[in-house]
Order: sequence, then structure tokens, then C-alpha cells
Amino acid sequence: MSPETFYIHTFGCQMNVHDSEQMAQLLGEAGYVRTGEASRADIIIINTCSVREKAAQKAYSELGRLRKYKQHHPGVIMGVVGCLAQEKRDAFLRRAPYLDFVLGTHNIHRIAGVIGKIASGGSPVVDTSFHRSVRSLGIRTLPAPGSVSAFVTIMQGCNNFCSYCIVPYVRGREESRQSADIVDEIGFLARHGVREVTLLGQNVNSYGRGPSEDVDFPTLLRMINEIDGIDRIRFTTSHPKDLSADLAAAFADLGKLCEHIHLPVQSGSDDVLRRMKRGYTAGEYLEKIVLLRAARPDIHITSDIIVGFPGEKDRDFQKTIDLMGKVRFDNIFSFRYCDRHGTASEGYDGKVAEGIKQERLTLLQSLQERHSLEKNTDLEKRVEDVLVEGVSRNSTADLTGRTRGNKIVNFAGDADLIGKTVPVRITGAHIHSLRGEMLQGGTRC
Ligand code: SF4
Repeated sequence: MSPETFYIHTFGCQMNVHDSEQMAQLLGEAGYVRTGEASRADIIIINTCSVREKAAQKAYSELGRLRKYKQHHPGVIMGVVGCLAQEKRDAFLRRAPYLDFVLGTHNIHRIAGVIGKIASGGSPVVDTSFHRSVRSLGIRTLPAPGSVSAFVTIMQGCNNFCSYCIVPYVRGREESRQSADIVDEIGFLARHGVREVTLLGQNVNSYGRGPSEDVDFPTLLRMINEIDGIDRIRFTTSHPKDLSADLAAAFADLGKLCEHIHLPVQSGSDDVLRRMKRGYTAGEYLEKIVLLRAARPDIHITSDIIVGFPGEKDRDFQKTIDLMGKVRFDNIFSFRYCDRHGTASEGYDGKVAEGIKQERLTLLQSLQERHSLEKNTDLEKRVEDVLVEGVSRNSTADLTGRTRGNKIVNFAGDADLIGKTVPVRITGAHIHSLRGEMLQGGTRC
């Protein structure tokens, strides 16, 4: 019997989530039907992440479970895609010989063809080649029914080679899509009911830097701001060294650009930043924060911080704590440093003991919790426009949505508001979310 249903398990970041959406689109166009349960699927795809050790370990343990599953269901087609697939290449088939395919980050557009070939008795496929033109960048996907938010990839890859990061090795060099393609895709999404787009790229600030590309990132934002039907524009991720005055000005000028930026600092110590090869000092980072806040005083700023980078001393860590005090981030993603195979910092001296890393992480996270709660408390009594995303996971009587500043708000309301923007008065603050009450008769759109 030919395969009919597929299941995708996604690990990692928004780029991976969008890659899975794109594969689902291609498989749907080829006649396969998506299922939310692996046990009902004829095809199981694991979309892997190798940026952090934890995500890689989770993917490996999922594969361990699938090995047993395949023993009892030999007809199920199984494969891995994504960053870990790109990194391990055919070694993946040696480690997991029950897999039918391994597709790297530049080859997900082949998914339907590869599965069709295997279903007709073909041998396992490994394709981790890099292409100068990444064909998966422009695959159009509509959001799930009821959702009005969509991801749009504008560029892929990275040329920065931060010493700890595996991304340039597994996603390749920077490549930007043509602005006309992006504008066309967002127009298409708007005509299908999308109101909010999140522009994706490993370093969106270097969008358009290649020789064949036409406009830079702030110009692209200005073009998207003109698209009828789109109300909110977000983007991720930004590199501080590439954040220009022109981009900061876009936060002041463009009404649809949401007042939130994720700007990874990684450390507050210049010594550590130099060894990370980040290309800026702590002082330069703070200057960018001043620039952003001058353009948009109410901007919400989030960040990534790594603790325990090789050679990080107590005084370096203290500089990170000091920087957090100066910026007062709305939220951060924080991690203990972990060697990634093949990166420069894998060979660095001065590895920090796990116990010290954990102590620093605990201290840093408790400081951030204090800052997050203070920031959220500042919003109490304010009225925020909330784009309703769905029913709250904690109570079916509640809806959940996001403010323009990317804060999660829970409030009582009917499910027919999902997909709409409503005014909500903030009545309570938690560390990771807000409580609110909707203003009566206040649907905005
Ligand atoms: S900028 Fe640095 S951390 Fe970000 S993807 Fe590129 S190499 Fe990795």
C-alpha cells in the first residue's frame, strides 16, 4: 500500500518550525495528509536542530524510540532533515540504519520526490549538498486555519562564524531572497487573511548584502510596511554589530513594525565577546540600545546570553550582570556554554566547570526574573492591542494573544475573537505573561 499520511516532529527554532511548514506544504501538494500522531503516520520526519546540545540530544532520543517502532512497523518511511542531518550527513545512516533518508538544510524542497522514490522501492537517500540558490527559501505556506500570523524567510545562512556557533557550517553562507519575491509572498499571505508576518533569517540585519541583491533590510521593511492587509511586522534574529541607525529609525517611522527587538548580546565582558568573535564591545552594544530607545522609547528588548564561555572569569560574569542592570531586558534566553563539534571554541583553553556554569546561570536567571516582572508590572493599567492567537492552555474560558511588544496576555473572551486584534487593559503581571480584561465593544479588526 502506498503511504498516505505523514507526521513531522520539529526541534529547535522558528526557522525549523517554518521549514516544517514548508515541507508540510510540499507533501500536501503531493497528496499526502498531515497527522498530529506519529502512530497514525505512514511517513515520519524528524526535523533536527544542532545549535544546542540539548536539542541534539532530544532528537537522538526520539530516534532511539523510532528504532523500536520501525521494528514493529517496517513499512513506515522514516527520515531526518535539518541542522543535525546536515552536520552528520551519511554518518546518520550508519548510526540509524533504519532511516530511509537524510536531507540537509538546503534540500528540504526535495522531500516529496525523495519520499515518492523510497515508496516505490528506491534505496535510502542522503543529500546534504549546499546550493548557491536555496530553493526552499521561497516555498509559500499558509498558516493553520484560524491563525493570522505567518513566517516568511527572507534570508538564510550566516557569514559571521562566531567562535561557538555551528550555524554557518550547517546552514551555509548568507543568501537573501529578492525583495520583489518577498513582497509578492507577503501580498499573497495578506490576501489569504494573514495580518502579522515574522521575517526570518539567521542575521536579518545583513539582508541584501550580496552582490546580486537589490535593497537593504530597512528598505525591505519600508516596502512591507506598504502592503495592504498586513498590520504587524516582526523579525528575528538581529546581530548587534549590523544594527544600523537606519534600522533604528524604522522603529520610529513604520507604524506596522512592532516595538520589539531580539538582540542577542551573549556576554557583557569585552574579553569574552572578543573570544566569541562577536564583532562588538559591551559599550557598542549599549550604544545600540540607546539608539533604539531614542527612536522608540517603549521598545521591548529581549536577548540571548551564554554563561561559562571558555575563559570566563568571575569578573567577566559580573560584567554580564552589570550590563543586564543597565539594559533591563524584557526577557532573555540563557544557556550554559557547551562545545559544538567543529567550532573554534571547541579547542579553546579555560573550560569552565559545569558546577560554576550552573551557579552563574541560576544567578543570572533569577536577576532576569526580577527584571521581567518589573517590566511587566510597568504595563499594568495600560491598554494594549492584543492579537488573539487561541484558547489559553491553562483555562478554556480564557483566550491568549500577544501585544505589539510580544508579551503574552491571557484574558476572558469568546473563541470567535481568535485572529482578531482587541484592546485589553492589563490587570496583572507575571514573569512570563500578563493578565488582562478586554474593553467592551473594542474589536479593532
Ligand atoms: S551571528 Fe554568530 S551566533 Fe548568530 S548564527 Fe551567525 S555565527 Fe551563529
